[in-house]
Amino acid sequence: MKACYPGTFDPITNGHLDIIERASRMFDEVDVLIMVNPRKSCVFSVEERKDMIERCIQILPTKDKIKAMIGSGLTVDFAKEIGAGAIVRGIRAVSDYEYELQQATANLMLNDEIETLFFIARPEYSFLSSSVVKEIAQNGGDVTNLVPKTIRAEVTDTVKKRL
Ligand code: ADP
Repeated sequence: MKACYPGTFDPITNGHLDIIERASRMFDEVDVLIMVNPRKSCVFSVEERKDMIERCIQILPTKDKIKAMIGSGLTVDFAKEIGAGAIVRGIRAVSDYEYELQQATANLMLNDEIETLFFIARPEYSFLSSSVVKEIAQNGGDVTNLVPKTIRAEVTDTVKKRL
């Protein structure tokens, strides 16, 4: 079965990458969907986010099963269009659960052939979010353990320039 992992990925973090790797061990294919959301203002363009995801995927042993793509509209519609039977999401804390439950329930109502599956965050990444990365980078902090090495310079330079 093919799964999709939708999100904003502004930028991708080690927490996201861990979910991608774990999902790719369970599914035949995982498509990482950068969902365009006009209500969210992002630091990185969708193309930049896609390019960074593609670079990060290269370090995974399961890289051949993973693709990055840009999507818009309803996640379930996009999932159906690409032939994905599952939506993967991550849960870091109880605070994520409420929002994720709402989204997953809405998606189930829209299409009950697509299941949402949750991966719990590894404890070392349970505090990690794209916002935390941006906050640290903006203030000159060290993001070494937060984002893959291959995108570290781009993340810190771009955040400093744009925030
Ligand atoms: P969205 O705007 O759709 O929440 P994000 O890029 O912030 O997009 O997150 C995408 C998904 O990845 C969400 O399900 C989120 O809970 C999960 N996620 C984000 N950071 C982590 C992390 N450190 N560990 C596990 N899951 C995470």
